[in-house]
Amino acid sequence: MTQEQIIEHFRKTNALLEGHFILSSGLHSPKYLQCALALQNPIDAEKFGKAIAEKFADETFDTVASPAIGGLVIGFVVAQALNIQFIWTERENGAMTVRRGFTIEENERILVVEDVITTGGSTRECIEALEKHGAKVTNAASIIDRSNGRADVGVPRITLASLDVPSYETEDCPMCANGEIAIKPGSRISK
Ligand SMILES: [Zn+2]
Repeated sequence: MTQEQIIEHFRKTNALLEGHFILSSGLHSPKYLQCALALQNPIDAEKFGKAIAEKFADETFDTVASPAIGGLVIGFVVAQALNIQFIWTERENGAMTVRRGFTIEENERILVVEDVITTGGSTRECIEALEKHGAKVTNAASIIDRSNGRADVGVPRITLASLDVPSYETEDCPMCANGEIAIKPGSRISK
């Protein structure tokens, strides 16, 4: 899958909207990303999983792990493609933790997979939580990198596509300056 094919799939599934949006942070952006929509069809999700797995043809892992909720679908399909087990970390009172009875062996080799990396924060927190249990996290991956390659998660990482998503304070927003109406993307998109 090329970067262009991935971005095209995101557009087609409304996972990538282009216009003038108010993000949950309150900032304005010409792009809005809702990765869950790109993975709604299991056949599509499986393709993304295979594409990430192929990038690690020379590596060996015991486990794929993802930070919930964003990483769950993509992490699962990557684990399926690699034919290894899948676990996840989730927040408990704000702190990323390993729950649900998942056990981790000493030096278990883990690949951490996310849907979108923006600052790398949730991937880093996921890695820390796993390492507390003795894991050896060796690599990380995402479908989309919104950081222009800047996000540092402490281990080598790959992405299937890079996407620049600029955001602006209202007073600095070029679309506002053009008099364009800003939209708050809803949790549902009508077809
Ligand atoms: Zn604006």
